[in-house]
Amino acid sequence: MNSSKSDNQFVRFVKNNVALLLIIFCVVAITTVVLVSTLSAGDPDNPTTVIPDPDDETPKTEIVKVYYGSPLSYTSVGMEYTDGKDILFVFNSTLNTWKTHNALDLIAAEGTTVTSMFDGTVTKVEETYGMGNSVTVDHGDGVVATYSSLGSVDVVKGQTLAKGDKIGTVGTTASYEFSDGPHLHLEVYKDNKHVDPMPYVKGEVYIEKEVQVTD
Ligand SMILES: [Zn+2]
Repeated sequence: MNSSKSDNQFVRFVKNNVALLLIIFCVVAITTVVLVSTLSAGDPDNPTTVIPDPDDETPKTEIVKVYYGSPLSYTSVGMEYTDGKDILFVFNSTLNTWKTHNALDLIAAEGTTVTSMFDGTVTKVEETYGMGNSVTVDHGDGVVATYSSLGSVDVVKGQTLAKGDKIGTVGTTASYEFSDGPHLHLEVYKDNKHVDPMPYVKGEVYIEKEVQVTD
């Protein structure tokens, strides 16, 4: 009888303190959840080392504009490429005839340094009767330039050039244009077609290059 009496007392205690017991249960449950999540987050003073996946690393790059530059400091422009509308037909005083010029003549003193307008590779070094000492440079992106009527030539075929590297000097070797005096006869091809070299000389033409950014 004693045991049934104490059983009854326990039941009565539970019935009388349902609210209190529920609160205690809730507190214990919340504490457990908080503890477990804190422990699984790791010790902030001793963080787990994360090994970066090399495939995941996208290098930081940015697009920069690299401009062409004048191949020499010239005193004036001789024969131009265009009159603004059409390719210019010019009277060639040496040949005593009208012909398509397809080039830009930049007048400068004999011996003036001629430099590469842009990075590139020398694809041809030749001496022709008409245009004299000529150097052809592939500047990439479909742009090829021929620097003619040079005095001295300072590059060889296959040579890699950076923008501003010396190609040669201004001379009078182009017999077709001998009567025009010392100048650089500059031809520019874009996708195998003659184009006006002037925007290149003026530094108006650029190529967008993707470069890696170092932090
Ligand atoms: Zn010319």
